[in-house]
Amino acid sequence: EFMSQKQQLVILGATGSIGLSTLDVIARNKALFDVFALTAGQNAKKMAELCIEHEPLYAVMATQAAAEELSAYLNNTSCQTLVMHSVQAMSDLCAHPDVDTVMSAIVGAAGLLPTLSAVEAGKKVLLANKESLVMSGQLFIDKVKQHKATLLPIDSEHNAIFQCLPPSLQNAQSDKSLQDNGVSKILLTGSGGPFLTRDINTLKDVTVSEAVAHPNWSMGQKISVDSATMMNKGLEFIEAKWLFNCDTSDIDVVIHPQSIIHSMVQYHDGSILAQMGNPDMRTPIAHALAYPERINAGVKPLNFADICDFSFTKPDFARYPNLQLAIDACSAGQGATTTVNAANEIAVAAFLNGEIGFTDIYKINAQTLDDATFTNVQSLDEILECDKLARERAAQLITKVTH
Ligand code: NAD
Ligand code: MG
Repeated sequence: EFMSQKQQLVILGATGSIGLSTLDVIARNKALFDVFALTAGQNAKKMAELCIEHEPLYAVMATQAAAEELSAYLNNTSCQTLVMHSVQAMSDLCAHPDVDTVMSAIVGAAGLLPTLSAVEAGKKVLLANKESLVMSGQLFIDKVKQHKATLLPIDSEHNAIFQCLPPSLQNAQSDKSLQDNGVSKILLTGSGGPFLTRDINTLKDVTVSEAVAHPNWSMGQKISVDSATMMNKGLEFIEAKWLFNCDTSDIDVVIHPQSIIHSMVQYHDGSILAQMGNPDMRTPIAHALAYPERINAGVKPLNFADICDFSFTKPDFARYPNLQLAIDACSAGQGATTTVNAANEIAVAAFLNGEIGFTDIYKINAQTLDDATFTNVQSLDEILECDKLARERAAQLITKVTH
């Protein structure tokens, strides 16, 4: 029977790029999904529009001020949504017994606690917030297993890999090695971002508007900058290691500027399976929402007659030093990946604020890693402490650059 009961959904980060795409897919499949709760950071105006349109039971903002602003917008409307605030309220709703599915689409480390709450409650967790997995790796995956949560990747590459893997390897819970199950490589594709062919000597002059103008995808600001530095691919490399229980030697990064192939899996017999489509996040969102069924995502099917170029190259690490940094951190372990993720959030925010240059992002990230003295980073407290120290160090280094 096709999804006999309506899924009750929480969307973390509802006002963002992934949140809005999720609501678009849900609106096309109203018989299958109910919006239980929406959460957002500060954007009360957008949240008010979403509450009026989707009528969630709850709406949670990050701060009290934003919640008051939202209540004011909803006053004198017929909207019955209950307004709340705080990370704790988000976490509580993720664990609510009536909830089936949580879309984790907050940007950055701010998504960690509510996402872990959904995992600990054994929910179906749709993971867009890669930073939470990069930050907490083993702990996150252990909790998924322990609480029998269902973890489905939303990142287009990981969703593609998931679709191309045999079912026994689709999630880390299997504990099976790729090599023992016929898989020889995961081919993680990336477009190379807006500066694939720009003169490398002019990267220091890159402006914010140039950095956030991605050629193929329309996304939030932070991930757009990460795509331009390819730190995004580095975070995805770490994400893939945890999602699919593989070694760094199992993953190759392939530059594919057209973003039509979203990633591939290579088998021992020479077969390579690829997942393809127009670059539109509604495809992986719809895949995960309906899994193992298929629903309409509103995505225009790919027309092969329209494809002029279909090309592939190796990444140039001189152009993308952040990619190398993240891959090395992945080999070094949890302290390094938590640190590089935290430093990068601070550095990217400083770049977006006009405080540092584009190529300074790498310098801050590399120096923060160099200066870190982490030992054991395993428990949640150790992870949060490591994250905090890296943020403080990166902020100090930024002050040095700017003064
Ligand atoms: P976005 O900036 O468009 O949206 C972020 C959302 O998080 C907003 O709703 C915002 O209000 C909320 N938020 C921000 N800070 C918060 C805080 N402190 N507390 C609570 N909520 C907060 O970002 P996005 O592009 O939608 O990306 C969201 C996540 O999905 C990121 O982790 C990103 O890496 C991942 N992702 C995005 C895409 C994409 O196409 N946009 C693709 C793959 C993965
Ligand atoms: Mg991606």
